[in-house]
Amino acid sequence: MASVELRQVRKAYGALPVIHGVSLAIEDGEFVALVGPSGCGKSTLLRMIAGLEEITAGEVIIDNAVVNELTPRERNIAMVFQSYALYPHMTVAENMGFNLRLSGTPKPVIAERVAEAARMLDLMPLLDRKPAQLSGGQRQRVAMGRAIVRNPAVFLFDEPLSNLDAKLRVQMRAEIKQLHQKVGTTSIYVTHDQIEAMTLADRIVVLNQGKVEQEGTPMELYKKPANLFVAAFIGSPA
Ligand code: ADP
Ligand code: MG
Repeated sequence: MASVELRQVRKAYGALPVIHGVSLAIEDGEFVALVGPSGCGKSTLLRMIAGLEEITAGEVIIDNAVVNELTPRERNIAMVFQSYALYPHMTVAENMGFNLRLSGTPKPVIAERVAEAARMLDLMPLLDRKPAQLSGGQRQRVAMGRAIVRNPAVFLFDEPLSNLDAKLRVQMRAEIKQLHQKVGTTSIYVTHDQIEAMTLADRIVVLNQGKVEQEGTPMELYKKPANLFVAAFIGSPA
């Protein structure tokens, strides 16, 4: 687990500024939802934390160390996307262990970690299947399993449930919550779904056009939205 801090982080794509000086402090073990309308910069911010996108200015700090120059692997962060990008020719177990194999982890250790994650995610009976033989929800669980086996310091989620139907989304939301209660890994969860944010997060950060509009617990944002934008987004009367 780890704390994550952003200090005056900025991003421009060419001449186009999209993140305008965002500062945030996320505690060890906290579950923070990052919400805001499409195009406001959520994915860009997450990718900068992960090290997948260069930072134009400012600092990303993980466990009190500036990580701007570190690769994604060195940051020990796992990211879960909406497209699970599983390898179709590999079994569930092989998919889950793939990153560990790349980093040279011994086979028995991989098997142990995969089994542990599979038990946590109810994937034990599915370990020998191929992705094509799984439902959407099961695939999403495999994608989470692949992240968990690496024992990352931080989980980043980028709208992981947006491709699932409404019923499955509610079920997976509960599973993600349980998972966080079990492993307690610091999590930053991007969503444009305020209900998802309200039910999952200890704290919500509302982003609008590359700036933080407000941050607080779900109740604080609901009861005391700082402005009309937050009120409209969180769905409470202003
Ligand atoms: P969100 O995830 O909140 O929908 P993004 O972070 O994807 O928002 O995008 C923020 C802004 O940056 C948008 O205006 C988008 O068009 C722009 N953008 C994102 N990625 C790139 C890129 N690779 N090149 C140029 N502009 C980009
Ligand atoms: Mg996005």
